Amino acid sequence: MNANTDEHTGQEAVPPAAGVGGLYDRNTDLVDGAADGNIHFGYWENDSDGSSFLEATDRLTDLVAERVAAGPGRRLLDVGCGTGRPALRLAAASGARVTGVSISHREIGLARARAERSGLGDRVAFRFADAMALPFDDESFDTAWAIESLTHMSDRAEALIEIGRTLRPGGRVVISDFMLRRPVTGAAGELVDGMCEVFQAPSLASPDEHWGSVRRAGLDVVEFLDIGERVRRSYREIPEFLGRAGATAEESADIEFLASADSFTRAGELPEVGYVLMVAERPRG
Ligand code: SAH
Repeated sequence: MNANTDEHTGQEAVPPAAGVGGLYDRNTDLVDGAADGNIHFGYWENDSDGSSFLEATDRLTDLVAERVAAGPGRRLLDVGCGTGRPALRLAAASGARVTGVSISHREIGLARARAERSGLGDRVAFRFADAMALPFDDESFDTAWAIESLTHMSDRAEALIEIGRTLRPGGRVVISDFMLRRPVTGAAGELVDGMCEVFQAPSLASPDEHWGSVRRAGLDVVEFLDIGERVRRSYREIPEFLGRAGATAEESADIEFLASADSFTRAGELPEVGYVLMVAERPRG
C-alpha cells in the first residue's frame, strides 16, 4: 500500500474538494457512523415509537423505496448516494440495478467498498458525478430518487431537468428533503440560516419552491407529503451522536458539524421547519 492509497477503501486517496464535495470529503467518515451509512434523517411513526436512529433511517429509505416501484432488472438512479447504504438496501430488497452518483470522491470510495462487501457489486455501481450535469444518456433509467441531496444544490431545477432527461417517459423520481413551511425572521431566521450554512445549502426550499422546480423540469407532481413531525427527532439524535463521537472528530478536524450541533437542535424545534416526501413523474409523451 503506498502513501497515496486510502487505508479503508484500498483506492487512490484524493485530496478533499471545495464546496459541497469538500464538505462530504471531510465529514463523511464521521457522519457515516451515525446510522451505519444512512446519511439522512430518521422517520418515527409517533412519539412513543422507540426505534433506534438506525431503524428510523432505514424506515425513511423504505418509505422512499416503496414509491420508486423498483423491481428485478429495473434501473434506478440514486442522486446524491452518500456511502451507498440506501442503494444497497433497495438493490437487495427489489432486485433492481442501481447507479449512485455523488459529488464527493470520499463517499464514492466508501460506497464502492460497501458494495463489494455486500456481494451486490454486479448490480450496484457508484460514480463521481454532479447531478446538475449527469453523465448519462437520455432515458437511461426507469426510476430515480434523491434523498436529502437536492438541498445542497445551487440549481435544483437544473438537477431535476437532468434527472427528468435521464428517466424514461412514465419514470418517477422520489424526493426526500428539507423544507421551510413558511418564512422565518429574527432569531428563527438566524437558526435556519445557520442550518443552511452547515449543509452548504442555498436555502431551505418552501413548498412552492419544491413544486416549482419539479414543474420547471416538466415533471408532474404525483404525491406531496410533509412528514416534518415524523422526522423531527433527527435534529436531536444527530448532535447526540456527534457529541459521542466528539473525541474522534476533533482529532480529524471534523469540527464544523459539531460546532453547529446546538443550533441544529434548536433549528429542528422550529414549527416552520418541515420535511418533504414528494413523487414526480416524467409525462408519457
Ligand atoms: N442519499 C444519501 C446521502 C445524503 S447526504 C443517503 O441518504 O444516505 C447528501 C448527498 O448529496 C451526498 O452524497 C452529497 O455528495 C450529494 N450531493 C450534493 N450535491 C450534489 C451534486 N451537485 N451532485 C451529486 N451529488 C451531490
